[in-house]
Amino acid sequence: MAKLTLYNTLTRSKQEFKPLNDKTVGLYTCGPTVYDYAHIGNLRTYLFEDILRRVLEFDGYRVKQVMNITDVGHLTSDADSGEDKLEKGSQREGKTVWEIAQFYTDEFKKNIADLNIKSPTVWCKATDYIAEQIDFIKKLEQKGLTYNTSDGVYFDTAQYPDYARLGKLNLSGQKAGARVEQNDAKRNATDFALWKFSPKDSQRQMEWASPWGKGFPGWHLECSAMSIAKLGQEFDLHCGGIDHIPIHHTNERAQNWGLTGKETVKYWVHGEFLIIDQGRMGKSEGNFITLQTLIDQGFDPLAYRYLCLQTHYRQKLNFSWESVSAAQNALVKLQTAVAGFAGQSIGCVGYEADFLAAINDDLNMPKALAIVWKLVADSKMPVAGKKQTLIKFDQVLGLGLNDLKPEIIPEEINKIAKDQEAARQEKNFQKSDELRALSAAKGYIIENTPNGPIIKKK
Ligand code: AMP
Ligand code: ZN
Repeated sequence: MAKLTLYNTLTRSKQEFKPLNDKTVGLYTCGPTVYDYAHIGNLRTYLFEDILRRVLEFDGYRVKQVMNITDVGHLTSDADSGEDKLEKGSQREGKTVWEIAQFYTDEFKKNIADLNIKSPTVWCKATDYIAEQIDFIKKLEQKGLTYNTSDGVYFDTAQYPDYARLGKLNLSGQKAGARVEQNDAKRNATDFALWKFSPKDSQRQMEWASPWGKGFPGWHLECSAMSIAKLGQEFDLHCGGIDHIPIHHTNERAQNWGLTGKETVKYWVHGEFLIIDQGRMGKSEGNFITLQTLIDQGFDPLAYRYLCLQTHYRQKLNFSWESVSAAQNALVKLQTAVAGFAGQSIGCVGYEADFLAAINDDLNMPKALAIVWKLVADSKMPVAGKKQTLIKFDQVLGLGLNDLKPEIIPEEINKIAKDQEAARQEKNFQKSDELRALSAAKGYIIENTPNGPIIKKK
């Protein structure tokens, strides 16, 4: 099996991936908060996670991927204050929170299907795991890791000596109130809510009874409860965008330690942000572009996938309309090339080894794409072998290279293309141009490439 290295945020180093057991790799990917459409920044993170899963599968692992749907408890500020995003969505659209959650969950699933992102092995939503979350808090309480305030039950982060490690947090700075809004009842600025009480003067649409009072679970708790419920007390991989490192994942890790006494997650892997106009793309920043916006502008969703593959997942990606247009052109060129390669043959072994090395080097997809284009242009390789190899690569790339039907080109056009190529070789450019024009008049474009002519329907 190929040796896979991944950058582990916990150790801040590239490490060899060694699965906890040799049968199935456990992968938990934080899912969407379903109060609005996902933006293409969010989707970049899901694309990187899809590549990780595909690389693991390409390497021969079975992957159990769990993705949660956050349908309760995610407040507008990550620091346990502000409104519940779902309740906010409900007010905005005049629908119930349950309707909002269902609608945006369906939209999210359509987005990932359009991007050729594999559906997770297990979907789970926070509101289906309330009992598990209450049980989790009870166990933390029994260990003396919680305390109650007037607005909820909190985790006492001072009791976890390793709290700061994942986020490399400077806790002395934070105690001065640098990060979190002041909540005087909290013992430490980094303490976070496990359970929030419903407000006394109004009724929430989503609330549940608990030993501590009516309310709802904290956002971090759902991911701890569901990942452990589905993947066990120790599992291989946990992913998300980099914004999750200092708060969400730091708090998950603290809860997991509180419950199990173990380092539950072996590798934490985080994707960098999509940037627009030099700033973060975000729902709250109000600058977000959805996948539908791209589709409405005439882009194939896979052009966005291609665009993301061009930048390593740990590098910022600056979105522009020019770059997505260029990605679309490259995608069409690649698909056309693969469709034009006919026949059956053994693959191009050297290229396959290079590709395997690139994807296993911390998912180096830009390098993998460079290998793809080198192979497309390599006139020494038989086209049938190229096709075979590129279709194999597509198990990881997911660029729809496998389903391409070669265009049935009429015999007459094939003959014109052959003559045109011969004229070109003889440097009879006038004849070559005339034949190209003749083909165009009959509805087919001839493109001359180092591998011979490619014919496309107009
Ligand atoms: P949310 O729905 O806000 O919980 O975010 C879903 C995922 O998208 C999380 O893994 C975030 O870390 C990630 N994310 C949010 N904004 C961006 C961005 N601009 N670029 C890439 N990923 C992002
Ligand atoms: Zn999460």
